[in-house]
Amino acid sequence: MDKKTLDFHLCDHCNLNCYYCDHVSPWCKERTHTLKEFENNLILAKKLENIFSVIHLTGGEPLLVKHIWIYLIKVREIYPDKQIVLYTNGILLPKMTDEFWFTLKHYNIRLHISIYPVLDKKSTMELITEKGVFAYAKEIKKMLDIEWDFTAKNGHEAYSKCFRCPFVYDGKLYPCPRLCLAINKDKNFPDIENSYLDLKDINLSEERILNFLENPTVACDYCVTHKEKNWRITNENDFMENN
Ligand code: SF4
Ligand code: SF4
Repeated sequence: MDKKTLDFHLCDHCNLNCYYCDHVSPWCKERTHTLKEFENNLILAKKLENIFSVIHLTGGEPLLVKHIWIYLIKVREIYPDKQIVLYTNGILLPKMTDEFWFTLKHYNIRLHISIYPVLDKKSTMELITEKGVFAYAKEIKKMLDIEWDFTAKNGHEAYSKCFRCPFVYDGKLYPCPRLCLAINKDKNFPDIENSYLDLKDINLSEERILNFLENPTVACDYCVTHKEKNWRITNENDFMENN
């Protein structure tokens, strides 16, 4: 595995809906994971504790989750020694409450702000400085155009280029959020059963997990990466084509 990270969703929907979203947010139903669902995923992921060192809290847009600081405290309680990074598009940062900022600082949780063209970088960074939290900002003007082609036999070409963010969702481990959320949307997606590991399986060994994470799934063959495209928001026509 290139990066020892593990991703969790707090919610699936987003307030930005980028067309090339690698978490498929524009096409996900609105879903905020309950604290119990979120906690269950965190506890099941203990099976991977020796494998990853950084927890990514993502979505969708996590700042849409009401009382998000309760979720953040839960992660720190369960994983006292891991690096925890909360991903956001930053749009809601000016509206966040004192509880949120206090939790980031007190529980040592970092922010990763993806700065899309709609966000004012200067005022966002001024806010971060004022709040005194640790944040990393990345400007994004282009995104990878990836699509599924169930006839493709590309020798896992996309897999050799992708970032492979292992992802825990509803008690299962996936090689990336994109595959997980595509499977959840399309029940006819081929080879579904080979695309994840069930973390509730009491016989699941660390060796099997490592093997799963270090090799492409069958579905990776259907994953076709095109060139980077200019960032844009999903429009009504896109929704009609994809539903
Ligand atoms: S801000 Fe992030 S999660 Fe939201 S649509 Fe864009 S890429 Fe997806
Ligand atoms: S489906 Fe496979 S190749 Fe495509 S992004 Fe996910 S892990 Fe990479």
